[in-house]
Amino acid sequence: MKENMPRFNPERDREWRERLTRLQYHVTRESGTEPPNSGIYYMEEREGKYLCICCGNILFTSEMKYHSNCGWPAFHTEHPDAGIIRLEDNSFRMLRVEVRCGSCDAHLGHVFDDGPLQFGGERYCINSASIDFVQGENNDD
Ligand code: FE
Repeated sequence: MKENMPRFNPERDREWRERLTRLQYHVTRESGTEPPNSGIYYMEEREGKYLCICCGNILFTSEMKYHSNCGWPAFHTEHPDAGIIRLEDNSFRMLRVEVRCGSCDAHLGHVFDDGPLQFGGERYCINSASIDFVQGENNDD
């Protein structure tokens, strides 16, 4: 099932260590979590796209974002080209579903089933540190 997952690449890892902040690196490459209510995109409402901070893969758009009051940016849907990977996560004595970038395997956050029902009932709980916001209209060109 994980056959196509990128393997650890020392060159990319070096680039990420140089380019990312410590928090961005910790979240994406070491499956960390930013403190609640601290992320720069938690309250973001502008129109635009959210890309993987590591590789630029498109993950979400502002149309998929909503306010969940959970302390992290929340999305009800992923972008059709995101290819987000879901993995069972049993850490911290909880059973959760981890979500990772389909392109570079960056840890993004988790997906829960308490999202808005009109959009399918899922809540992607995403670390601001794992994404890059690009302001603009929500078209794909
Ligand atoms: Fe990525």
